[in-house]
Amino acid sequence: MRTTIRQEDLNVLVQNASSVVIFGHENPDGDSIGSSVAMYHYLAWLGKSAHIIVNSRLPEFFSFLIPEGAISYFAEDAEGCASKVGAADLLIFLDMNGVNRSGDVSKLVEAAAERPDGPRKVLIDHHLGPQTAGFDVVVSDTAVSSACELLYQVLLEQPPVGGAVDRLPLECATALMAGILTDTNNFANSVYPSTYLAVSALQGRGVDRDRLYDEIFHSYSQQRMRLMGHLLKDNMRLTEPCVAYFTLSLADKKEYGFVKGDSEGFVNLPLAIKDVKMTAFFTEEVGFVKVSLRSKGNLDVNEFAHKYCNGGGHKNASGGKLYMTIDQVPAYFESKVKEYFSK
Ligand code: 5GP
Ligand code: MN
Repeated sequence: MRTTIRQEDLNVLVQNASSVVIFGHENPDGDSIGSSVAMYHYLAWLGKSAHIIVNSRLPEFFSFLIPEGAISYFAEDAEGCASKVGAADLLIFLDMNGVNRSGDVSKLVEAAAERPDGPRKVLIDHHLGPQTAGFDVVVSDTAVSSACELLYQVLLEQPPVGGAVDRLPLECATALMAGILTDTNNFANSVYPSTYLAVSALQGRGVDRDRLYDEIFHSYSQQRMRLMGHLLKDNMRLTEPCVAYFTLSLADKKEYGFVKGDSEGFVNLPLAIKDVKMTAFFTEEVGFVKVSLRSKGNLDVNEFAHKYCNGGGHKNASGGKLYMTIDQVPAYFESKVKEYFSK
């Protein structure tokens, strides 16, 4: 169910703003990018100056969605990002349940909040437990496929759109569809009746779904396909009672010429094994191990991520970080699986 914690009307906030910064979450995925880009196009259509800031670079196969010059990366241009946030009078957070999910860039937000004329803040999200403190508007619904689906509903209600999907700029509609496609893994999970209504309207608006599908799902490099084969054949392990997991080391990344995004979606693959109810994918980064978790049905990986992996997310899709070497991960993970399932 949708909750709107609204001291102010979103449309009034947007209409009164002259410079808007939109934040994506750390390790942005298709929903984060899709919702940010959709919001960007909506604001541009209203004649507003908008800019997107994310912590670090996106997977290359999303670049087709990004308008020229619309995005800055905090890891590469901290000063540029600071000046954009410094000049903004409205900050919009999408596909994250709190400012800290935007990564190091959240420091800029804290600094901006200290200003006497600090910017107004809006959160639109579909994760559990949205942060409300410090926000002027919070729109939260966990019973939707994606932030993009929620944003579609919110934008449609805005007075300039007035319920007419044909008024949404085509680029905005396309970005919304991209987020829904990726967060549902092409309609394999988290699909609600409202999801089909949204995609039906977006396709009716003129979104080229087939092209989007090709751009997102048929864009593997040869190395990426070979890496997937290697991980499934050599690295995947099954553990009691119904869990499959695999690891990707820095050495594997080097051997397969890994680039950002190359392992996108791999965590879902072992769910295709009959009886597997939970999967985990561990990626070695410098200084930590990134965790991705997926599950089927009532198995709650959000709780698992929260308890054992310094993270969170959704019931069937969560993530987190472990501060250990990649070689320590299997013993740690298997012991926590045992603990979790013996409850
Ligand atoms: P993914 O496995 O695709 O990286 O993330 C799956 C889900 O878990 C996403 O909804 C994402 O927001 C959430 N998630 C991923 N990493 C983290 C994390 O470090 N902390 C929290 N709280 N959520 C995360
Ligand atoms: Mn999402």
